[in-house]
Amino acid sequence: MDIVQNYIGGAITASLSERIAPIFNPAQGEPIRQVFLSTADEVRQAIAVAHAAFPAWSHTPPLRRARILFQFKALLETKRDELARLISEEHGKVFSDAQGELTRGIEVVEFACGITHLQKGEHSANVGTGVDCHSLMQPLGVCTGITPFNFPAMVPMWMFPIALATGNTFVLKPSEKNPSLALRLAQLLQEAGLPDGVFNVVNGDKEAVDVLLTDERVQAVSFVGSTPIAEYIYSVASAHGKRCQALGGAKNHCIVMPDADIEQTLSAIMGAAYGAAGERCMALSVAVAVGDEVADNLVSGIKNRIAQMRVGPGITEGRENDMGPVISAQHRAKIIEYIDQGVEQGATLCIDGRNFTVPTHKQGFFVGPTLFDRVTPEMSIYQEEIFGPVLCIVRAPDYRTAVTLINRHQYGNGTAIFTRDGDTARQFSEEVQAGMVGINVPIPVPMAFHSFGGWKRSIFGPLNVHGNDGVRFYTRMKTITSRWPTSVRLEQHTGSFTMPTMG
Ligand code: NAD
Repeated sequence: MDIVQNYIGGAITASLSERIAPIFNPAQGEPIRQVFLSTADEVRQAIAVAHAAFPAWSHTPPLRRARILFQFKALLETKRDELARLISEEHGKVFSDAQGELTRGIEVVEFACGITHLQKGEHSANVGTGVDCHSLMQPLGVCTGITPFNFPAMVPMWMFPIALATGNTFVLKPSEKNPSLALRLAQLLQEAGLPDGVFNVVNGDKEAVDVLLTDERVQAVSFVGSTPIAEYIYSVASAHGKRCQALGGAKNHCIVMPDADIEQTLSAIMGAAYGAAGERCMALSVAVAVGDEVADNLVSGIKNRIAQMRVGPGITEGRENDMGPVISAQHRAKIIEYIDQGVEQGATLCIDGRNFTVPTHKQGFFVGPTLFDRVTPEMSIYQEEIFGPVLCIVRAPDYRTAVTLINRHQYGNGTAIFTRDGDTARQFSEEVQAGMVGINVPIPVPMAFHSFGGWKRSIFGPLNVHGNDGVRFYTRMKTITSRWPTSVRLEQHTGSFTMPTMG
């Protein structure tokens, strides 16, 4: 069985680690290859290589860096189907969804291609008489990305295109559950002309991550994953003096108002709740129905639609499935445990996905689409992130109760409201405590030229990913105030001991 290696200094590098983990095809429920879990020394070697590559890369003109990214984008487009198949094979999501994730990643590369404009800094002439001021946005050095299983292409591409474009070098530690895509990205970057050592991939688990968080040569850590790990990453990286952005888990609510277009709302909720088997940080996992009539319509509409859903492997010969398996047997067991808890705690289980199997893929890690009604805030299925195809309907008497629920929740990643009323929508966007808000849009993932990030326990650190925040995260500002006084020849300078002021 193939063993996935590291990619260091422009080459696939054989690992000497004695620790190896299996990589599954979740639709088949069988291991298809393995991955080395790197030793601390191997991670240090990758950091050393990235550190050595930094001076030359950071002095490469931004225009030349951008041209390499243009080439990389062209290669990603050419290889789109091959890459999407690899994502689908190791993650389980359906092929068109894997293509969609690639598109969202490619859009960040497109954004990073504009780095010559984005990294210009600011300039003010005549801030004082004969005095000019300008800023440089300089790269940091070695940056690192630690990424989750659920978007093996998009999430790394939220990070490294901007880090590289701004002149940093990078060490990526992808999820050990589906690491193969990261190596393909590294190869394509090399094919696009990226100098060796600028982008490196180390595979591994906590042992590898801990080196990235503590090695003094690493300047910045970007993390995306579950909240407990995000908190850990942020605290350790910050304690070691690193810049850190750590994006965590979510429990995304939507509010359905009585005036919402129910058919459109149902279609939106179905895709957002069950797409990618609910393994999206922006998945809608709670629908708050305002009024019992709305709730009853949602329950019957969702039940009908679930009955028509096609669940099976991500890659098929004929018509594509709507939903694939979840990532692992352990994760499947965890989701089923949550469903058990929902039943024990008194929620109404309308559709039960616990004993779901796909006849052609009996060993696959499938959970059927699951629907709960009459979920209440003290239940664990409401409070915690399930990260599976489980939708909870909460009944609220009015808008105020609904929005208060969202604002009191520990997570604040994405949220949405379905309504025809502009005033309600406007009020909602003003007061809701979440980072990304949709108005009749179920998964409001900002485009690459805006920034992505939640509030509350969905993010740790002040800057979001991509967009202007991404550029700020990977650069540090240097502000230069200069005077070229022609009067130097004429004046007697005795020096001044007061705080300089201009004007
Ligand atoms: P995870 O937290 O288990 O793993 C994420 C990364 O952290 C992986 O690279 C993993 O190897 C590493 N890791 C795991 N345990 C560690 C430890 N003890 N110490 C150091 N590193 C460790 O997350 P996952 O299961 O791969 O991904 C799903 C989670 O990611 C969900 O909670 C989801 O909401 C979240 N997510 C959030 C966003 C966002 O933008 N907020 C986007 C995607 C996924």
